Amino acid sequence: MPELLANLNPEQYAAVTLPNEPALILAGAGSGKTRVLITRIAWLIQQGYASPATVLAVTFTNKAAREMMSRLSALLPIDTRGMWIGTFHGLCNRMLRAHHRDAGLPATFQILDTADQLSAIKRLMKGLNVDDEKYPAKNLQYFINNAKEQGLRPDQVDATDSFNLKFVELYRAYEQQCQREGVVDFPELLLRCYELLAHNAPLRAHYQARFKQILVDEFQDTNKLQYAWLKLLAGQSNAIFAVGDDDQSIYAFRGANVGNMLDFEREFNVRNLIKLEQNYRSHGHILDTANALIAHNSRRLGKNLRTDAGHGEPVRVYEAATDSQEAGWIVEEIRALINTGLTRGEIAVLYRSNAQSRTIEHALVNAGIAYRVYGGLRFFERQEVKHALAYLRLIDNPNDDTAFARVVNFPTRGIGARSIEQLADASRLYGCSMAAAIPYVTGKAGTSLGSFATLVAKMRAETERMSLPETVEYVVRVSGLAEFYQNEREGQDRLENLQELVNAATAFVSEEGYGLDTPARSIRLAPGATAAPELAAASIDDETVVLDAASFGDPAQNPDTMTPLAGFLSHASLEAGESQAQAGQDAVQLMTVHAAKGLEFTAVFITGLEEGLFPHENSAKESDGLEEERRLMYVAITRAKERLYLSLAQSRMLHGQTRYNVRSRFFDELPEGTLKWLTPKAEAGSRWGGRSDNAGWGRDWFARPDRGGPSAQFEAAPLPAFANEQRAADTGFRVGQQVFHTKFGEGAITALEGSGGDARAQVRFKRHGEKWLALSVAKLQVIE
Ligand code: ATP
Ligand code: MG
Repeated sequence: MPELLANLNPEQYAAVTLPNEPALILAGAGSGKTRVLITRIAWLIQQGYASPATVLAVTFTNKAAREMMSRLSALLPIDTRGMWIGTFHGLCNRMLRAHHRDAGLPATFQILDTADQLSAIKRLMKGLNVDDEKYPAKNLQYFINNAKEQGLRPDQVDATDSFNLKFVELYRAYEQQCQREGVVDFPELLLRCYELLAHNAPLRAHYQARFKQILVDEFQDTNKLQYAWLKLLAGQSNAIFAVGDDDQSIYAFRGANVGNMLDFEREFNVRNLIKLEQNYRSHGHILDTANALIAHNSRRLGKNLRTDAGHGEPVRVYEAATDSQEAGWIVEEIRALINTGLTRGEIAVLYRSNAQSRTIEHALVNAGIAYRVYGGLRFFERQEVKHALAYLRLIDNPNDDTAFARVVNFPTRGIGARSIEQLADASRLYGCSMAAAIPYVTGKAGTSLGSFATLVAKMRAETERMSLPETVEYVVRVSGLAEFYQNEREGQDRLENLQELVNAATAFVSEEGYGLDTPARSIRLAPGATAAPELAAASIDDETVVLDAASFGDPAQNPDTMTPLAGFLSHASLEAGESQAQAGQDAVQLMTVHAAKGLEFTAVFITGLEEGLFPHENSAKESDGLEEERRLMYVAITRAKERLYLSLAQSRMLHGQTRYNVRSRFFDELPEGTLKWLTPKAEAGSRWGGRSDNAGWGRDWFARPDRGGPSAQFEAAPLPAFANEQRAADTGFRVGQQVFHTKFGEGAITALEGSGGDARAQVRFKRHGEKWLALSVAKLQVIE
């Protein structure tokens, strides 16, 4: 048995060495799906069934793609950088760059990220005088993206009522605007690439002849369009090797379709369906917890997971009074873990929503523990970085109106809102970009706009011969951005980020950063060459992949090599700087549960396990949404190898408001035997009931006015000094009374304190444990 296969179990072995036929590997978390997929690529190449050039592998995140390449090069002595391994967006971008002409795009098309897209939509609506109240820009954005993800252009959208007809009309206008500006949004990358392959038979034939092996990780999260794209590439004869786990489908809210698995099985007549049931990642208690939770879902394809690892440590659960206490506890536990020898990088803190990270970051900073946040406002999404990128984009593509509008008056150069409106009118009138409309604007406005155009033209001319890092450095300086932030009171961080952008450019052109989402090696067209035989023999070291020139026109007219600047700008849009900040440092990993998919860590904290937060209030209303939240929780739990911590806070500052929370329903679905409650489960509120070891918690709560004082909401902390005294005679309540509360349900009063407006009751609720409530706010009803 070749060494490559030595450590696989029989099912994994069978999967890796399947013949080149459609295959579906359906298996639970941590069963080695990704490992099987990577090993299969290595095995195919090693055995000569494939060459690096004939493989196309799709993963879900850039991080996963990077990981796949590094694991692959550890298995085989090959250079993986030129391989077609990436995300759907990354691979589509790469194909569109190579065939931009056939795709109807300028060579320097720019990618709009989600925020850019929204501002482009707002600009469009403003120009058309559309009422933003009646047709909110965000809803239009959702409508457009949703249509695109279903592969629908405006003419194909089925709209009958006047509201949707208006959206279709705006979708059409938005498309025209993007086309005029030479920009594409995220779903457009996919749709455009799909259409390119669907409508261009020679090109499709070429890629079908090339990609003999198509491998897809996290198949459960593909949407309809992605699946259709895969089908086009597979054609009649190529085999798709798909791995996935229906229990980890967590993108239905964005159109992912678990049904793709069943469709795939049927449409490709999949005879090779392999299930992997051995989990190699998690200790027993962690796996039992995950299995018990997901068993509450009804729509499952069904599979089991077992582990040979022992039970390991129990899952530790902590219920804090406030979010800052929760963060404090996390930091203490992290410290303890580090003391036992874990590196920071082996520890992850997961949360349902990005807004939760702030408090945790704050605690980590105070404790001096290095951390790294994935997602959230990422490096390339920061205001100052986006400004600099906008100048760079204008150098590359002057028609990019989103970039233009962003910096035409930033730093301020006396171009007011009215001048910009005049310019926008002219651009609509003449059907050209804003930059091209400048000559049509007269008067003072025209002069200021003219000097901005001159500035950009000067930048373009002077950077032509510069390296990418020099270009970035030059633009930051000459645009006036550096000076602007120097003079700003809080500008130091921003200046540092601009310097970091120069560093990012340096890293990008050096060996390391280049070539993930962008082809380091270009596809060139060689006259007279025939495609397939060359490709079959091509090795990854080939600088040039030869296409059939007859099909694609004259190579001289199709300059499909991406400039470093264009490559860098794509990278900035697609990657958004996940790997930028604090790269290389050993740091605790902070991320949303969505971003943690496919990853694993020795120790995992899942935080904010509160009703409304996890499960999220937007999803918990219907059963589909709730099942998706449960899958998300399943993903979170199964990231952990040895240690799992679950936490919640009874009160939490979120979006500027203090929320009072009840425990997530997921706790009721977890097996008691695997959990260890560090705070009493049934008596969550009793810690204030005179237990001196915990007395400090109440004080901390009072010390923070921003947490909303006790009277701010319906639930309050007690007055610490008199915890168990029965001093609320004037309230009409008494200990032992049965009461009803609109949020927490039925319960019994266990203690009373304070008087008048300050009176509080401690109530033991049947479902939610003990809570202290301010009687003036809580509106308890006596039910006995
Ligand atoms: P997920 O569903 O979370 O994406 P997965 O099914 O892709 O999980 P992998 O990430 O491939 O699982 O594997 C989980 C862990 O188990 C990895 O650390 C991997 O190296 C290890 N592993 C997989 N198979 C084996 C094996 N046969 N022997 C030892 N370790 C294995
Ligand atoms: Mg995986």
